Amino acid sequence: MTFDPVATPTVRIAEHLEPAFQHKHQIEAAKARLADHLKRRKKKPNILVFLMDDVGWGDFGCYGGGIAVGAPTPNFDKIARNGLQLTSCYSEPSCSPSRATLLTGRVPNRHGLHRPPMYGEAGGLQGEVTLPELLSAAGYATQAVGKWHVGENEASQPQNIGFDDFYGFLSVSDMYTEWRDPHFFPEIVYSEARTEWVKNMPFNKCFVHAKKGGKATNVEEVTIPVLSELDEKWCVYSQEFIRQKAKGDQPWLLYHCTRGAHFDNYPHEKYLGKSPAKHPYKDTMLELDAIMGRLLETLRETNQLEDTLIFVSSDNGPHMETWPDSAFTPFRCAKGSTWEGGVRVPGLFMWPGMIEPDRQSDGLFNFNDILPTALALAGETERLPSDRFIDGVDQTSFLIGGDNLTNRKFHYYWLVTDFSGVRCGEFKMILTATSDDANDAAGPGGFTGALMRFPYARLYNLYLDPKEQHNYLTRKLAYVDVFQHGIRGHLMSFMKYPAKKVLGV
Ligand code: CA
Repeated sequence: MTFDPVATPTVRIAEHLEPAFQHKHQIEAAKARLADHLKRRKKKPNILVFLMDDVGWGDFGCYGGGIAVGAPTPNFDKIARNGLQLTSCYSEPSCSPSRATLLTGRVPNRHGLHRPPMYGEAGGLQGEVTLPELLSAAGYATQAVGKWHVGENEASQPQNIGFDDFYGFLSVSDMYTEWRDPHFFPEIVYSEARTEWVKNMPFNKCFVHAKKGGKATNVEEVTIPVLSELDEKWCVYSQEFIRQKAKGDQPWLLYHCTRGAHFDNYPHEKYLGKSPAKHPYKDTMLELDAIMGRLLETLRETNQLEDTLIFVSSDNGPHMETWPDSAFTPFRCAKGSTWEGGVRVPGLFMWPGMIEPDRQSDGLFNFNDILPTALALAGETERLPSDRFIDGVDQTSFLIGGDNLTNRKFHYYWLVTDFSGVRCGEFKMILTATSDDANDAAGPGGFTGALMRFPYARLYNLYLDPKEQHNYLTRKLAYVDVFQHGIRGHLMSFMKYPAKKVLGV
C-alpha cells in the first residue's frame, strides 16, 4: 500500500524508543549506500551541526526570505540547492530546550531543560547521555564552538559532557551586553552600584576555552566591541579544526553554534550597514551566511565535503518581542510559543554523493532525531542508551535512502512543562497554547501571552491554514483516533520514564 503519514502504522522496536515508520526499501538502500561510502572513503562520516540563534524559518532566500527581506543568503541557498531542504523541521520554543534536545535525543520534559537558565542559574545537561559523549566513545573527535547555554555549572559544561574541546561562551548573547548598553539598560549603565550588582552575579562575563575534563579558562571579557567579533573568531577556530582534522583519519563532530542572530546584534564592522536593509539583524544574517560559506570552502579545500554530513538550522523561531531585532516567519506567533512560528525552523542537510541535490521534503524532522541518526551513520546504533527514553528516531534512511520518506509519524509540542499538542501529516492537534488573541497571528506574544487550555482540542490543517486560524476539528473528527493514539503513547511513556526538571528546582 502507498505510504501515508496518517494511515500508515509505525513499528515499536523497543519500549524506550519512539515508534517509527519502517520503509523497508529505503532502509535497505540506505544500508547499501552507507556501506559503499565506508568502502570508498575508508572513514566514518564527519558531522557538522551549524546552529544559529533565533534565526527565522523565512530568513533564508530558499525559504522565501533572503533578498526579499533585505538580507541575501547565497550560501545557505546553495546548501539547499545541493542537498535536502526540510519544510517541517522542528526545534523547541526556546534556545536551551532545543539545544539540550539536539544533544540528548530527548524532549525537554525528559532532559529537564524546559526553559533557558539565565544569569548563572544552576541546572543543565549534567547527568544526561549526550551525542558528543557517545560519538567520543565511538572514536570521534568532538569539538564545540560558540554558544553553549545548556548549563554553566561545571558538570554541565561542554568539556565535561563529551566534547574534547570548547571555544565559546557558556550562556547567551544578551546576557553579556544588555546591561552594558545605555539604550536598553540606562538604569544600570549610569549606576555604579547596579553595575557592580550585575558584575557580581554568578555568570562568567568572558568567553572561554576548555579541554576535555579540564577547567574552562577565560579568553576575553565579552564587552560590546568584543561581542561584535565573536562570530568571526569562532569561524576561524572552526576552520582551523577542520584543517587539522584533514591531516588524520579520525572522524569528527563539529558543533558550531553562532552568536548571531540573537538580540542584540552588533555586527562585525565588515558587515555594518552592508545588507540592503542596513539593519543590525540583517547585517548579522549577511555575516552568518558568509561564515557558512567559509566553512564550506574549508571543507572543500581539505577534500572533506564528501566525508561530511552538514546540518544547518536555528534553535527556535524569531523573537518578535525584540522587534525590529528579529526575524521572519510566515507562521503564527513566535519564539516562546508552540504555534508554528515558535518551533518551525529552517532545516538543511548537505552531503555530496550521499544526499541528492535539489531535494525538498515536508516530512517531519525533530532536533531529537539528530542523535540516533548520527549514531546510525557512525555504525554505532548499539551505543544508544537503553536505561532512558529516547524520543529521537533514526532518520538515516530518510536522508540517504532515496525515497524521501520521513521515519517520524508524530511531532510532539511541549510548552515549558505543559504538553501542548501533536502533529501528524498536515494536521496539528493542539490542547494547550500561548494566548488566544487573534491579533497575535502577526507575530508578537511568544513569551507574553497567557496560557490557554482549550476545553476541546483544536485541529489545524497546516497546508490550508499555516497561520493556524481556522479550527477544523468538528469536520475532521475521523482524525481524532490517530491523534489520541499518538498522545496516549507519548504521555504514557512518562509513567515508566518519569519527567525531569532541572531549572528552578
Ligand atoms: Ca535561540
